[in-house]
Amino acid sequence: MPDFDHQSAPPGAIRSVVVAGGGTAGWMAATYLAARLEGRGIAVTVIESSTIGTIGVGEATVPAIRDFFKAIGLHDFDVLRATAGTPKLGIDFAGWAGEDTRFFHPFGLYGLPSRGVPFHHYWLKLAHAGLGRDLGDYSLCTEMARNGTFMLPVDNPVNDLAVFDWAVHFDASRFAAMLRDLGQQRGVRLIDDVITHTVRDDETGHITSLETQSGLAITGDLFIDCTGFRSLLLGEAMGSSWVDWTDMLPCDRAVALPCAASGGFDRPYTTSTARKAGWQWRIPLQHRVGNGYVYSSAHISDDEATATLRARLEGEALAEPNMIRFGAGHRREFWRGNCVGVGLAAGFLEPLESTSITLIQTALEKLVDLFPDRACAPALAGEFNRATTLEYERIRDFLILHYHANRRQGEPLWDQMRAAPLPEKLAHKLSLWRARGKLVRYEWEAFFDPSWLSMYAGFGLTPAAHDPLADYFTHAQVVEALDHMREAIRAAAAHARPARDFLARLAPQAARA
Ligand code: FAD
Repeated sequence: MPDFDHQSAPPGAIRSVVVAGGGTAGWMAATYLAARLEGRGIAVTVIESSTIGTIGVGEATVPAIRDFFKAIGLHDFDVLRATAGTPKLGIDFAGWAGEDTRFFHPFGLYGLPSRGVPFHHYWLKLAHAGLGRDLGDYSLCTEMARNGTFMLPVDNPVNDLAVFDWAVHFDASRFAAMLRDLGQQRGVRLIDDVITHTVRDDETGHITSLETQSGLAITGDLFIDCTGFRSLLLGEAMGSSWVDWTDMLPCDRAVALPCAASGGFDRPYTTSTARKAGWQWRIPLQHRVGNGYVYSSAHISDDEATATLRARLEGEALAEPNMIRFGAGHRREFWRGNCVGVGLAAGFLEPLESTSITLIQTALEKLVDLFPDRACAPALAGEFNRATTLEYERIRDFLILHYHANRRQGEPLWDQMRAAPLPEKLAHKLSLWRARGKLVRYEWEAFFDPSWLSMYAGFGLTPAAHDPLADYFTHAQVVEALDHMREAIRAAAAHARPARDFLARLAPQAARA
């Protein structure tokens, strides 16, 4: 396709996009739109308030974030350098299947299918015969995480078995600053002011301008609400109501407390440790470790949660505890009129699987895919809302599975969560897993088969049966094949290097992979 020179905006076209809020969501929106809408003369403006600030958490991601970096013209290494970031191979779940247990949710595959039957049915066949090994033995990501090593997928010499991906941990404020610089270099206009009023057209109901404390009226054609939990535009001005899911996901608070990164970087993954009334995160960065306790305020006081977190820090605390309140749920309409909510302004699911930032990314991808003209046809918003609702529901169900399958006995939150009724789609998935080890995938899933498998296996949810097509081979044949896979995984893992060496390679002159 030839590169066109921009002439002038066609009649009715969007000429300016206003992003309200400059946290992770606001700057991801501004940089992504500036990149994807380039060459059309569409002005992008961000209004953020340095007096209000950002939420200051949100430092673990999923691999899709690297597609975002690419879309805005950033290299993974540039991000790791600028944000004191580290690589992430998955999440280590400690204590969820009972005290002193742990299992790993990897960003990669387990084993290989054979003769049309998914790998895990062979693994289940051996488990049913008492010959099973840990599922993680067949995952390169898990093997590297166990060894505290890392390599880039391109450096993996082996074979299809060793397919894996990786995400990053980053310092949220440095990430926002990096995007702010990039956005401004690409022509995004920044206004540091407090939005005081949203002006709407009487006839269409569309937003026409945002008024600010210093007396500005910022006009635009399309408004992206990234004002965080306040949801000033979508929630307050446009009246999109809140769909509350706290009955299904009762954790409603977090206390965050960074500590010194003593001992160096040797865990290329996030750790999630179950506690009495919730769970604790550990996110390793180059210059510090992010920690937080996500908890249900009905089951523990703020003081006790803070004391628990302090007592479990692995290094000296670097700040005062940051207390955050939230609720699980989302705006009923994510896009109404000419206003689209992105980030916390649109909804929130607790950070158990690091999904908020990926929801920002998919919202922006969908917005560009459905990019409107000034009329903002309701059908476009309708499709955006349909897809986003499904995405939220799928992630919600995956998170609920973590709580439902827990094996912690005698603690009120955990006992309550095991007994709680399940959403219909999750109940269906579980019934198929329990009956025959069948993995079910619906439209707009953020997590694919290996992720679900890691949970089922990690929690010891053994199905009643496996695929009978796996029974056409003897146990000895299957043992031999799986041993071969195990060896191939180990051979691939031998090429990985200590994770801290990978970071050392990130010096500015390091070769680009
Ligand atoms: P904010 O950071 O709150 O930004 C809001 C912006 O709006 C700010 O710039 C603010 O100044 C501006 N603003 C607000 N009101 C006004 C006004 N009146 N005028 C002008 N500007 C205004 N996500 C992950 O993917 N991974 C994680 O590990 C993760 N951990 C989390 C842990 C916790 C405890 C919580 C609560 C969230 C976590 N998240 C995580 C979510 C993640 O933090 C957010 O999705 C992400 O930071 C985006 O936030 P935001 O930009 O929507 O909101």
